[in-house]
Amino acid sequence: MKVLKFGGSSVANSENIQKVLAIVANESKNQKIAVVVSAFGKTTNKLLAAANIALEDINAAKEILETIKELHYQIIDALISEDKTAVSEEINYLFDRVNAIYEGIFLLQELSNKTLAKVSSFGERLSSFIIANAAKELFDAAHKDSSDLIIANNDYLNAQVNFKITNKNITSFFDQNKHLVTVLGGFISSNINGEVTTLGRGGSDFSASIYAAALNATELQIWTDVPGMFTANPRVVKQAYPISEISYEEAMELSHFGAKVLYPPTIQPALRKEIPIRIKNTFDPESAGTLICKNPNNSDDVKGISHIEDVSLITLEGGGMVGIPGFSKRLFETLSVAKINVVFITQASSEHSICVGVFENDAAKAKELLDETFTAEIDRKKIKPIIVESDLAIIAVVGESMKNYQGLSGQMFSALGRNNVNVRAIAQGSSEKNISAVINKHDAKKALNTLHEQFFEERTKQLNLFVTGVGNVGERFLAQLQQQNKFLKENLKLSIKVIGIANSRKMAFNNDGIDLKNWKDALEKGEPTTLDSFHKKVKESNLINSVFIDNTANKQVSEVYEKYLRDSISVVTCNKIACASSFDNYKTLKQVSRKYNASFLFETNVGAGLPIIDTLKNLINSGDSVHKIQAVLSGSLNFVFNNFNADSTFHDVVAAAQKEGYTEPDPKIDLSGVDVARKILILARESGYQLELADIKNNAFLPEDSLKTTNNDDFYASLTKNEAHFQNIFKEANDKNCRLKYVAEFVDGKANVGLQHIPSDHPFYNLEGSDNIVLFFTDRYPENPLIIKGAGAGADVTASGIFADVIRIANK
Ligand code: ADP
Ligand code: ASP
Ligand code: MG
Repeated sequence: MKVLKFGGSSVANSENIQKVLAIVANESKNQKIAVVVSAFGKTTNKLLAAANIALEDINAAKEILETIKELHYQIIDALISEDKTAVSEEINYLFDRVNAIYEGIFLLQELSNKTLAKVSSFGERLSSFIIANAAKELFDAAHKDSSDLIIANNDYLNAQVNFKITNKNITSFFDQNKHLVTVLGGFISSNINGEVTTLGRGGSDFSASIYAAALNATELQIWTDVPGMFTANPRVVKQAYPISEISYEEAMELSHFGAKVLYPPTIQPALRKEIPIRIKNTFDPESAGTLICKNPNNSDDVKGISHIEDVSLITLEGGGMVGIPGFSKRLFETLSVAKINVVFITQASSEHSICVGVFENDAAKAKELLDETFTAEIDRKKIKPIIVESDLAIIAVVGESMKNYQGLSGQMFSALGRNNVNVRAIAQGSSEKNISAVINKHDAKKALNTLHEQFFEERTKQLNLFVTGVGNVGERFLAQLQQQNKFLKENLKLSIKVIGIANSRKMAFNNDGIDLKNWKDALEKGEPTTLDSFHKKVKESNLINSVFIDNTANKQVSEVYEKYLRDSISVVTCNKIACASSFDNYKTLKQVSRKYNASFLFETNVGAGLPIIDTLKNLINSGDSVHKIQAVLSGSLNFVFNNFNADSTFHDVVAAAQKEGYTEPDPKIDLSGVDVARKILILARESGYQLELADIKNNAFLPEDSLKTTNNDDFYASLTKNEAHFQNIFKEANDKNCRLKYVAEFVDGKANVGLQHIPSDHPFYNLEGSDNIVLFFTDRYPENPLIIKGAGAGADVTASGIFADVIRIANK
């Protein structure tokens, strides 16, 4: 014999019930089966909600009841043809009783647990009766009222089963029952006086297990709306997947810590008789589902992760507790007498404090009772008044063989730490089947995803990007990302999503990732942005492995990096302003990045996509030291002086450079040498030297009046005005057979930038187009320098440098 249980969503409408009947028909081919059903869809919630509303507004309660009726009559219409009248009569009778109870509640202005149990029992009484009658039309089936068989105590909403009487009732009923299929309502029971009681919300799973154990069933099947027990709640963790096999104890831990797919008491009866439990999906009966059994075939150390929301921490704290026995006994006694469930316990080994987790609903009552229990000690200042902290959640990592695995809790907490999840308390059961942590409720989703990635997704790592600046570089970056996403997923097991984008006017967010084909639309439809509102949204998204990307050249944007880093959000930037600001600020950003474990990467600050900073870092980290740097670092100045000659005008060449995307938005930053000065400053700092921008000697070639302009129009006008000056610069070099290069040098702790005449035998002479070149003279490369050369400006290469930094973060 087998027992099959179908949950609320499996019987939410007539189409679903038809699927259920097909499954039942198939399973009953070779054996007798008991079918336990839940109420249809959300009926239990509605029955209870209407009962509460009936206290104040009987008409509103009746309106809710009407919607419940409508669903039930629709199902009867669709599924019952032979005995429709008889079935409808019985259903009418049941609904009349619910109606009478609501009127009673309204008249008496009273709603006891006893009444709540009675009201909610109608969901399963109705559903089991209708399904049994629909089944009768297809195969040999009968209905039986569960409250005749399952006998429990007077705890109306959470009745404790009397297994002795219950088992006897079940076996003697089924001994005589000759029908192939028996349909029973889950959730309901009665006390010895015959009053209806219920087994707790979600209790139909438990009913089914009680039947399975009493009948020595060969298997208990729990049919639901997901294909098994997942590695984490699939609604919260998109990457979660069904666990193929799991032990009773592990399944119990997961369900106790919030895996709603199985009501926690369900395991016990089946476990006692070692009856395998299979969790299956009504909507995909072919998929394997999860097998819960004694010796699962599954070598994973961690089997699953679950969480409970709405938890409060209650702390009993004070020096007066140390060494004096009895405090915890009194604490737990007080809570247990008040029937307050303790979900979590930790005690510091100093005995200075005891901390318990309870459901938020119980917290106020728990504090009141405990303050009373310990009044004497509190008055004498031996302990502090009870401390309650709310808005918390508990997350639990579960797996029986975790105990054999060194360093697992280290992995768990460092993963949480990396993602800025603050852990408030930790408990590890001595059985080591479970490590649990109390965190802020707000962080629960992020924490679950973090841990899921840590323990189940070595294969795919997620990165969540927040991109500000979608001009030249930003746009190219998004295009490259879109083009490469599939490759990254398949080859690097890396899933990169752009969650937020912003330009100077608007921002758009999508926690599932913005469609990169249509990001312009999304942004256009977005909301107005400021740096603060963008940061706030990033924080609210609270996603794992978040990266803030600055593709602007804006000073204000460069000033928010620290805020992001302090939230453990990595920063990638092509904006040089932060790294070329005061040395103190540069150092602070580096320190904050280390402290909060968030990368701060700016490879594109020098030489666009060329691996200059990364190479320098590798030299320094491996113990080399830099003596001298010589470099041509301005792709824009290179382009300008490679194209400028007696046949062109300086103005046109600069305009062309800007049009090609080789200059900063403000070309004066390039032409004045400031941009090159910033770059050599950054290289000097990355080499370990403490320098300020003002320490860099800048031999500018722009005439004074060009330098003084304050906008691009005036600047370009001044170039035209000074054409003779520029032609003269060209002629002087040309007369000596030299080319003009804007060179940056760093020697013995000092740096300078300026235009130089480069003869034909010099490595800089043949630099093409917008190419950059850097020569590093170091301990290991004293005479023949380490040379890095290539295209050093342009939106595409800069975007690919940003991309490379993002990949560096993924590989960390
Ligand atoms: P039923 O109505 O069939 O009893 P429930 O709603 O009680 O179904 O339980 C199934 C739901 O449990 C799933 O839809 C899912 O949202 C939730 N759930 C939470 N944690 C898990 C988990 N670890 N594995 C599977 N489902 C889970
Ligand atoms: N119908 C009950 C509830 O919603 C029992 C169950 O479905 O398991 O809690
Ligand atoms: Mg359920």
